[in-house]
Amino acid sequence: MTRKFTLNTERFRSYLHGKGIGEDEVGGQLDKPVSHSSANDHPEARYFVIHDTSINVCTRTQQFSESDSSSATWNRKERWEDSGDAHLFITRDGKSIQPQGRDFSTPWRATKLESFVGDRTRGIFLHVENVQLRTVDLRPSEGPLNAKGNCRNDRIAQTPGFTDAQYDRLALAYIDASVRAKRWLVPAYHVAIDRGIPDGHDDPRNFDLARWGGALCDKLAALGEKCD
Ligand SMILES: [Zn+2]
Repeated sequence: MTRKFTLNTERFRSYLHGKGIGEDEVGGQLDKPVSHSSANDHPEARYFVIHDTSINVCTRTQQFSESDSSSATWNRKERWEDSGDAHLFITRDGKSIQPQGRDFSTPWRATKLESFVGDRTRGIFLHVENVQLRTVDLRPSEGPLNAKGNCRNDRIAQTPGFTDAQYDRLALAYIDASVRAKRWLVPAYHVAIDRGIPDGHDDPRNFDLARWGGALCDKLAALGEKCD
């Protein structure tokens, strides 16, 4: 059964305003509809896809200790402003960036599935990247680099995978998208969207659904909504 969507746009707007958070910091203006596909019946965005950036530090694992610092390059806005990869980036210290001026009204693709199926999927998925560091998963007798001098893989993600500041901002982005769609979007992991497709991505790693759910429920309670 689909739960009736009751969240009031003006209430969410004043909540953001009270926290000093701009609508463009959480996915876009609340009065703007979310994206639509150009397929015949113009379906509206349905899936809220959660990603991690998989920044591979390879053997430089000492960088994990500074992963949440505001001054780390991966937590700086300019690192993501010109990215072609998503609708929104969330840094580990909770900043958010709409790259290249996109927001949730811009039809945009960021998974193998969307490339595979073709243009009619453009606009059905909203993409949020969360900054995370990775390192190499070494097998005995193998060095970290392959014959081309590149890191062999980026399979090991940092633990915990994401910060409270990220879960908090991601909850606001999810509410922004859902308020604009006037229904709760379907949260989805990139790994699940690409499952079964060669070279499909494995992100997000170490995503704590309970922690994100807790952040979301806190927001809903503050907005006078039930969370069960
Ligand atoms: Zn991804």
